[in-house]
Amino acid sequence: MHYIDPHIHMVSRTTDDYARMAQAGCIAITEPAFWAGFDRSSAQGFHDYFRVLTETEPARAAQYGIRHFAWICINPKEAEDPGFAREVIALIPDFLDKPNVLGVGEIGLNKNSKNELEILEAQIALAKARDQLILVHTPHLEDKLKGTRLIMDALANHDVDPGRVLIDHVEEHTVGAVLDAGYWAGMTLYPDSKCTPERATDIIETYGRERIWINSAGDWGPSDPLAVPKCHVEMLRRGHPRETVKRISIDNPRTFLGQCAKFDVEDPS
Ligand SMILES: [Zn+2]
Repeated sequence: MHYIDPHIHMVSRTTDDYARMAQAGCIAITEPAFWAGFDRSSAQGFHDYFRVLTETEPARAAQYGIRHFAWICINPKEAEDPGFAREVIALIPDFLDKPNVLGVGEIGLNKNSKNELEILEAQIALAKARDQLILVHTPHLEDKLKGTRLIMDALANHDVDPGRVLIDHVEEHTVGAVLDAGYWAGMTLYPDSKCTPERATDIIETYGRERIWINSAGDWGPSDPLAVPKCHVEMLRRGHPRETVKRISIDNPRTFLGQCAKFDVEDPS
């Protein structure tokens, strides 16, 4: 079945992964800017990274017939030094104008610190001023619920339209609050943390298929670039119709991402 993986860090993956994803039906991906497995020592390091996201990866993906889109930001893990973070933020506007960039992301919180929150607010303000879509990273495990609430408060303080924000890495204890507030929700399928395909399918059965998608968030650590089609297998095994699978992995991504005119991926069916 055709699908879109709306959150995967291909900068950390091999070309063989692109080939396997194409064979599994992947037609498009979106790649948020995030920690790349190491701290960058200068703003120039981010400039080079943003060029990879807007030049190198789209060309690599195109070799396998996969459309590549990106999100630009400084991630919360490297935002502990506000002076340094603001140097990086100054680079962002030029990249937002690139043809494959859909918005600002993945911004959010990592340890819920004061400095992270300051830089999150600065990037929400930038996104709002430039009418950009927002992709949000929520913290891990015990910090997730508190971090999700802090992020939703910050977005509301800036009067951001919830329909233009996707809050990612939701789990059972955060998905309800995210959807109730009008935001889009992303479930990340990891082998040993966040959601498994089974848990994600449980969540869809509980919360429905509106304003929700699944992604692999494949990256430098233990993760699976084929997690999305593996979740489809679990859904079909439980008797969900193919139309529901298409809804969460084609229709919903097209509806949310299509709010940016640059996302011109057609319905493959
Ligand atoms: Zn990510």
